Amino acid sequence: MSAPTRVTIDPAFVEKLILDIAQYGSDGGTGVSRTVYSPEWVAATKTYADWCEQAGLSARMDTVGNVWGRLEGSEGGKSIVSGSHIDSQTPGGRYDGILGALAGLIALKALKEQFGTPKRTLECIAFCEEESSRFPSANFWGSRAITGGIRPTDPETTIGFGGETIGDAMRDVGLDPARIPEARRDDIDTFVELHIEQGPILEHAGLPVAVVTGITGIRHYEIKLRGTQNHAGAFPMDLRRDPMAGFAEIANGVVDTAHRWGRPAVSTVGRVHVMPNATAIIPDSVVFTLDTRHPDPDLCRKLHETQEAYMREVAKRRNLDIDWKIMIDHPACPSDKGVVETLRRAAEAQGVPTMLMASGAGHDSQQMARIAKVAMIFVRSKDGRSHTPDEFSSIEDIVAGIEVLAAGLYRLAY
Ligand SMILES: [Zn+2]
Repeated sequence: MSAPTRVTIDPAFVEKLILDIAQYGSDGGTGVSRTVYSPEWVAATKTYADWCEQAGLSARMDTVGNVWGRLEGSEGGKSIVSGSHIDSQTPGGRYDGILGALAGLIALKALKEQFGTPKRTLECIAFCEEESSRFPSANFWGSRAITGGIRPTDPETTIGFGGETIGDAMRDVGLDPARIPEARRDDIDTFVELHIEQGPILEHAGLPVAVVTGITGIRHYEIKLRGTQNHAGAFPMDLRRDPMAGFAEIANGVVDTAHRWGRPAVSTVGRVHVMPNATAIIPDSVVFTLDTRHPDPDLCRKLHETQEAYMREVAKRRNLDIDWKIMIDHPACPSDKGVVETLRRAAEAQGVPTMLMASGAGHDSQQMARIAKVAMIFVRSKDGRSHTPDEFSSIEDIVAGIEVLAAGLYRLAY
């Protein structure tokens, strides 16, 4: 079938769904606090499933708590899926995650109404958990279940900020953690995720929408520099083993490396802990974090190597012991080139101006890439802000993003 002239998305309907679902976990003004398996989460997932049914999709919750809406295709085969996560930061805003879950639902409803039954099966999804905002090590719980990335011991060893296990939290809402493996899917062909940008690049470019070429690789180091604790007055400078001096040089050097490389490389030293942290004592040790990211797999590796070599060199020259642990290591995840091109052309046909960009934040798409072709659509964020009640995207920009999504799904499924 040839491409449609246009898919039409109703702005009033989009706005209504965004505001209605923001009530579940409403946290003062425009804030939303909706953590996985909480009462607010239960209400929001039920509402999402109801809305799927009202749109003429068949709705179900899988064994980990993801909600799926399904529009059966006439030719069967693997599904084309779109969605994002329904949980939030504490507090987050009205858009991070939930916008993509709603966008998938709204796009499928519009396609069904305007073009009837697709050839390929279309599905929308609200992932149960992405933010780690209740269980710090749960991140991507929903998409990891779908891709077989949850180990059998995880439900009882993933502990919440309140001391509860995620297994208990599941049982509290009627889900059996032993059945998580049943959430696994091997019949998804393509996954497209719409999300707010969470940065200022689209705003600076004066554009509403971007097609995402890949998700940045993310590595978190925890680094320990150790010297010799001594008196701050009696010990001459040339005899010291001062881990603070090494830390200062390393922090400046690793951040400077990413700064010199330029976009899209980023490096952040966000946390530092000094022992014993006293005015008149040369410290015993400095423990700090390094968060470093790049969307190109080769350059990401090169950035790691450059920074690691630098840290070793500084420690050696300053006669300090250095040790690090890698706490998080998500490889860079390039989008599928074919799907990117499909979305770019769909945007052109819809008259939506776009640019290509990489994602500096992690997303469910990088998990889904284990089992499917993936790509993402970004919608402009006001002042680039997110993970705050102040995050905002205009309905015009959101509708433009959903138009690109729907027109892209049309090309993939009709
Ligand atoms: Zn998100």
